[in-house]
Amino acid sequence: MQLTRTQQPRMHSAYTRQNPPSYEPPAGVEETIGWQLAAQTWREHLPDDLLGLECETCHRTWPCDAWEIAEDLLNGSRAYAAHDGPDGPEQEDDLLPITPVFTTSTPAIPRHRAG
Ligand SMILES: [Zn+2]
Repeated sequence: MQLTRTQQPRMHSAYTRQNPPSYEPPAGVEETIGWQLAAQTWREHLPDDLLGLECETCHRTWPCDAWEIAEDLLNGSRAYAAHDGPDGPEQEDDLLPITPVFTTSTPAIPRHRAG
């Protein structure tokens, strides 16, 4: 049986092996570390060169969980940046930082012993 290159599984991704996600997050993506981790994971968990059927890092059936999670993260980050990026609506200016409120008059909670 001959396998041709067209039988390799297709990546349903914005990225390809030749055009992998950049380590630098695109404009509007604020979670730099998260993006970089996802981009690194995406590059590491590509299908093997020979048949393209299993992940070359974790050797599970490709797409493996790690690749799918990375893919989701990258897509989600870009989608989020597209909607809420610098050009999007920003309504967080009116939000005050949340400060913990301590009260000194907290009543003691009566504790009942079981039995
Ligand atoms: Zn993998």
